[in-house]
Amino acid sequence: GPPGAGKGTQAQRLQDEMGLKQLSTGDMLRAEVKSGSELGRRAAGIMERGELVPDELIIALIEARISQPDCRHGFILDGFPRTTAQAEALDRMLSSRGLKLDHVIEMTVDEAALTARITGRFSCAKCGAGYHDTFKPPAKPGVCDACGGTEFTRRKDDNAETVTARLRAYHEQTAPLLPYYRARGVLKKVDGMAAMDAVYSQIRETLAANRT
Ligand code: AMP
Repeated sequence: GPPGAGKGTQAQRLQDEMGLKQLSTGDMLRAEVKSGSELGRRAAGIMERGELVPDELIIALIEARISQPDCRHGFILDGFPRTTAQAEALDRMLSSRGLKLDHVIEMTVDEAALTARITGRFSCAKCGAGYHDTFKPPAKPGVCDACGGTEFTRRKDDNAETVTARLRAYHEQTAPLLPYYRARGVLKKVDGMAAMDAVYSQIRETLAANRT
């Protein structure tokens, strides 16, 4: 799904309720930027422009991550792969570990809705829980529902100008993965415009129906 489709929201809930580890390459990169690492320094400008970070950096990041013990009961790749080269590298990584992709979920959305979704979002600085000014404010203003934290952050790239570049990257580089996975029979489509709980139910049904 494109930026703002709800991938992170749904992946976070699947992690909380199903014990599948959420591996978000965007979150990993933001952590690298924050720590001031070499990778973070290389990625920061690219992310602020809404472009994609080079494949070899992302592939190395994911490869190191899926080998960790917390991934052994299954994991959700959130925001990866985003290019054909990444998808091919993922195939190699999984097959060399005797693993396979069980499902690929496409979240369809009305693009006119994306800018409003993206520009209103923020998250708890302490636990990372995601919120939105209009669609998902905390129950008590200024207090995180999940951990009681009172500090929140907004992503630097969640502005109207960068959204245009991020959407362009999605159409040019990531959308070609839809036919790639459709041809293998693993692609399932969910309606990303439905209410958050309804989207979650659709994903849960998909995961349960085709468990292999
Ligand atoms: P996200 O949090 O998924 O929206 O990602 C934020 C930004 O991180 C993207 O706009 C890219 O600059 C970068 N990024 C995240 N995942 C990838 C990926 N798989 N390949 C290349 N760049 C990525």
